[in-house]
Amino acid sequence: MIELRHITKTYKMGAVEVHALRDVSLKITPGEFVAIMGPSGSGKSTLMHIVGFLDRPDSGAYLLGDRDITELGDDELAILRNRLAGFVFQQFHLLPRISAVENAELPLIYAGRRHLKEKAHEKMREVGLAQRESHRPNELSGGEQQRVAIARSLVNEPFIIFADEPTGNLDTKSEEEIIALLEDLNRKGKTILMVTHEQEIAARARRIIRMRDGEIVADERKRARRKKPVAMPQGLSIDAILSESRQTLAQAAFIDHFRQALHAIVSHKMRSFLSMVGILIGIASVIAMLALGQGAKESITKQLASLGSNLLSIRPGASQMGGVALEAGTVTRFTLQDADAIAKLTGTISRVSPSVSGRGQLVYGNKNWNTQVLGTGTNYAPMRAAIPAIGRFFTEDELRKRDKLVVLGTSVVTNLFGDANPINAAIKINRINFKVIGVMPKKGASPFRDQDDVVVIPVTTAMYRVLGKQYVDFIDAEVRDPLLMDEAQDAISKLVIKRHNLTKDRQDTFNIRNMADIQATLQSTTRTMTWLLGSIAAISLLVGGIGIMNIMLVSVSERTREIGLRKAIGARKKDIMVQFLIEAVLMTMSGGIAGILCGIGMSFLLALLAGWATKVSIFAIVLATTFSLFVGVGFGLWPARQAARLNPIEALRYE
Ligand code: ADP
Repeated sequence: MIELRHITKTYKMGAVEVHALRDVSLKITPGEFVAIMGPSGSGKSTLMHIVGFLDRPDSGAYLLGDRDITELGDDELAILRNRLAGFVFQQFHLLPRISAVENAELPLIYAGRRHLKEKAHEKMREVGLAQRESHRPNELSGGEQQRVAIARSLVNEPFIIFADEPTGNLDTKSEEEIIALLEDLNRKGKTILMVTHEQEIAARARRIIRMRDGEIVADERKRARRKKPVAMPQGLSIDAILSESRQTLAQAAFIDHFRQALHAIVSHKMRSFLSMVGILIGIASVIAMLALGQGAKESITKQLASLGSNLLSIRPGASQMGGVALEAGTVTRFTLQDADAIAKLTGTISRVSPSVSGRGQLVYGNKNWNTQVLGTGTNYAPMRAAIPAIGRFFTEDELRKRDKLVVLGTSVVTNLFGDANPINAAIKINRINFKVIGVMPKKGASPFRDQDDVVVIPVTTAMYRVLGKQYVDFIDAEVRDPLLMDEAQDAISKLVIKRHNLTKDRQDTFNIRNMADIQATLQSTTRTMTWLLGSIAAISLLVGGIGIMNIMLVSVSERTREIGLRKAIGARKKDIMVQFLIEAVLMTMSGGIAGILCGIGMSFLLALLAGWATKVSIFAIVLATTFSLFVGVGFGLWPARQAARLNPIEALRYE
């Protein structure tokens, strides 16, 4: 038994109150076919929405089976709609992008009864559309569409069918078909509540209720009651339905939500693709930028490691000039004699090598090459891991005689000699003849410069014959033991101060750096650079996320009626939310995966084209994947909530 007691419903439109229902009481027994008639605005739909669990009254009681259901919450009403009610609307409300039978299946999905899909086929046969199952709604006539809607309303074996002007959009022939179908259902025992304003249609019902201004003004039974009264459905216990549904709906098949989401994405290919591209660019640049930074860091570390961490470098100038240019004469300049003196600190220092550096124009045959010319001591080779791979380094004796001998870096060899053997060849450096005696081992490119684009000559030759310098640019000293580093630094400092008679205020006119410091500085610089690049990339990812959110919001408002329909047939808030979230996450994740692949590709391309070292780290990939997941959930959540909160009646009416 369905019983409404003293139901009222009032809408407030600003200051105006519209009394849609005033104190309506009504009993409907199982098996009845009731038509509600009345002029437009008389409250027919409002009444049907309340009886159909789509809306709640302001006051009064609604007794169904063993419960007053006005106390139930939104999700519980959704369960009742799903299990007990079937809806047939004037506008059919079929989802356009899925087949007829898939439309008929929808209520099963929200009932957690996907294993009963055979039911949908059975109902399609019942409404005479077995041959049309795989057609899309737009390939069906109006009458056929309404029959699909009826099949959908029947699929969960509801207790009562609600038909809101079911023939309002149909021609006479289809109208007859539909009304005959409803009559037939009623004969088989279904309770039917139908809103109509057509007298002939209403005449086919067994009972007609007339309404005016929110009140029932007439209630006539057209035909004799059934001989055999229809019983309430077996065990119509609202509590039992609710608790059973909670259990099955709890697992409301993820696969179905996933399919619906996938469908939505595929049916808007271009739009989905463009929003994925946003994420793709973001992720790809995060990966490539981090790879670039990581590569730079590793190559710097490797190069510095080959220098040995127990090297000290003594240079003119303050260690921290703070950007202020020092006047001439305020730096301490070093000579070869300083280097010799430092070498004599044998307690702490094992080897010393003075260096000068400048540019030189190389000529071999008809080939020219401009490169860095480095003049060094003989100890340079062992100290800087530069013992020639081919040939030899110059000796102490040759250095004293300022011999014109040169050891080439591999890039120089490639540029001047190609594949030919350069040993013993005669080349010119700044128009002076030199003999090639060796080739240095390959050091590899750093992000800043090519370390193999260099030639090494004796420091004396460089100063007095090639570059015309009187002072050395820096002196490298190797400390015997890393533990003696501070002591060595101290000893050198004292020696320099003494040799150059530096007064207290001029003691910062030279500086001693150790390689470990340089290493740390460089590494922190590259780390900063990596984060900088990474955060620029992250911003583009953020923009991509906002793009997804935008698309999802558009999608929600575009599919308002679809959401209304889903809710009417029993989707709960969670179902709608999950569907939209899956949609957002699917988009970001596929954009993300494509982005990772592009990012790796970009890193390789950068390495190949620009000659930069890059290294794609697992960390970057994990970071990017997690990030895109968060973007999807984060930016999908709000639109999904908006969708889930929609009121089903308003959503269905949305134009
Ligand atoms: P019927 O179905 O008989 O045409 P309704 O039940 O739709 O009538 O509406 C009854 C009255 O309530 C009408 O005056 C209508 O304008 C008003 N009404 C219905 N829904 C709303 C709403 N959501 N907000 C404000 N007024 C409403």
